Amino acid sequence: MSGKVAIVTGSNKGIGFAIVRGLCKKFDGLVYLTSRDVERGKKAVADLEKEGLHPSFHQLDITDNKSVETFRDFIKEKHGGIDILVNNAAIAFKGNAPEPAGIQAEQTIAVNYFSVLNTCEKLFPLVKNGGRVVNVSSSAGQLRNIPSEALRNRFKDPNLTIPQLSELMQQYIEAAKQGTHVPEWGNSSYAVSKVGLTALTMIQQRMLNDRDIKVNAVHPGYVDTDMSSHKGTLTIDEGAAAPVFLAVEADDTVKGQFVWYDKQIASW
Ligand code: NDP
Repeated sequence: MSGKVAIVTGSNKGIGFAIVRGLCKKFDGLVYLTSRDVERGKKAVADLEKEGLHPSFHQLDITDNKSVETFRDFIKEKHGGIDILVNNAAIAFKGNAPEPAGIQAEQTIAVNYFSVLNTCEKLFPLVKNGGRVVNVSSSAGQLRNIPSEALRNRFKDPNLTIPQLSELMQQYIEAAKQGTHVPEWGNSSYAVSKVGLTALTMIQQRMLNDRDIKVNAVHPGYVDTDMSSHKGTLTIDEGAAAPVFLAVEADDTVKGQFVWYDKQIASW
């Protein structure tokens, strides 16, 4: 064992679970399966144990700052650093969800953008120089899903800062609460959250360049999981392929990119 450490958020099921499975096979180090619910997480670990794989477990709810800090302190104390961080955990309201747009926007952006950002801010100081971060985005996280050209230009501004990006996310939530969001932002809070995550990826890469840390966003494909109501055409292992590739196999030159499930760099 090399003493290396990989972490996957939201990995008790779905694509995250398969990313842990893939890393257990391909990464020379400890792989942390994390879950907001301890029972679901331990059950997932037991399932992988039956396959002869040996992930470690820790509770992690990315929306709970105390949980994030407890996990950070545990990793710092036990391992001193992180080699790979896969930000996989996310939520999506179903198309027929009864919640009003403002509520869906607030909750979706809170988990898929602000909680990922907070988790990164807490864990990045532990990521070792030369480490890798994979942000699991989506085809929904491409700029073409934002109707307003002015907004698209803001998102792809190479000088955009995290506070400015967070302000944009906040503006979207306010617009959704007013019911005025559709012409500029479109009608999917999930898409806006993933555009935010993809834009965040580009900023994070700029900020971590001097530590030789590679940060990439990935569209895992349309995958057969609870999130897709099992309509996705790819298996969870097929969906995990590109995230695992970026975590362990991709060339060092692949950084600050939006990568498609076929492992090719795509435009975002
Ligand atoms: P699932 O809904 O199957 O799994 C989501 C995972 O995230 C679960 O383990 C869930 O835990 C966890 N999670 C949710 N909220 C939190 C939280 N607050 N803290 C920690 N973990 C949390 O989704 P998928 O596997 O389909 O999605 C994985 C990633 O892939 C997501 O980022 C998604 O947006 C992205 N994606 C998926 C596509 C698809 O077709 N499936 C397409 C494109 C992107 P719990 O079991 O407790 O709810």
